[in-house]
Amino acid sequence: MYGLKKEWEIEAPARECVLEDYVGAEARWCPGCGDHAVLSSVQRLARDKQLPPEKTVVVSGIGCSSRFPHYMKTYGFHGLHGRALPVAEGVRSRRPDLNIFVVTGDGDCCAIGTAHWIHAIRYNMNLTILLLDNNVYGLTKNQTSPTSRLGEKSNTQPKGSFFAPLNPISVVLGIANASFVAQTVDWNPPHLYATIRAAHEHKGASFVRVLQRCPHFTPHVFAPVQEDFSQMLLMNHTSGVRLDEPVQRMFPNRTDHDPRNLAQARAMADRTDVYPIGLFYKNDEASRYDEVTSQGLGMTQSEKLAAIDGMFDQFAIQGHN
Ligand code: SF4
Repeated sequence: MYGLKKEWEIEAPARECVLEDYVGAEARWCPGCGDHAVLSSVQRLARDKQLPPEKTVVVSGIGCSSRFPHYMKTYGFHGLHGRALPVAEGVRSRRPDLNIFVVTGDGDCCAIGTAHWIHAIRYNMNLTILLLDNNVYGLTKNQTSPTSRLGEKSNTQPKGSFFAPLNPISVVLGIANASFVAQTVDWNPPHLYATIRAAHEHKGASFVRVLQRCPHFTPHVFAPVQEDFSQMLLMNHTSGVRLDEPVQRMFPNRTDHDPRNLAQARAMADRTDVYPIGLFYKNDEASRYDEVTSQGLGMTQSEKLAAIDGMFDQFAIQGHN
């Protein structure tokens, strides 16, 4: 596979994994923090899909949500601010066999990590990317983030945020070669789980924005939506996130939305009267960088080295007579 050596291949011992096989250190997020719900969903998914812990890795950047790898009993990399995605791409480049989750926050992804974010979506490598968006820098104690609402007060902008917030879904839907774009909420576990599961099953860069409560600094942001489900609009489709009938009925507002329709997805993302929940867009045909650059070259390691040497030779400085 991928024309790479396979010395990394390991045989996962045959056994039935239970939830505890994925539970790492005790989570130190604040009580009621939405990150707990996302962690539970990923652990449940790993158990339900029987992902071997030794073949699963969680990569994060910096921020409250980026503590995620510590709480999974899998491989993990708690890395540099804004750099979760290039690290995950590096892992994917060499390890096509792994299940890779990327956990990032609105500061980590949508500010310092923006360039990596844009190109990771376009490169469309097989990654499950979870953006835990609480509209605030929580780890650094209440600073305005790119998704903070206009007028939202914080320690860095005490008179209120000056700018309209960046919409991460609209951004991703504007990037060429996007292949899976979804939105869910931390306070509806069935929808959260089903969305992360659909993202994991998609082959490509699956981008999921999770609207995430931060009861410590921004309890007022999502509390009204949590109490009143009519502020959400559930996007339904046979190609969308699969939900049981009783879960669908929890959402009084539902609409048919075909996730193959990019123009409609963009229009849905721009709505400000409701929070659209579900799968905005999916394209199974989008090119994947991990396939194109590795499999597609069809070269052996020595052929690649010879090609690189050939390129260097073009710049050789010839001696003078
Ligand atoms: Fe969660 Fe907010 Fe506490 Fe951070 S500060 S752990 S985001 S509740």
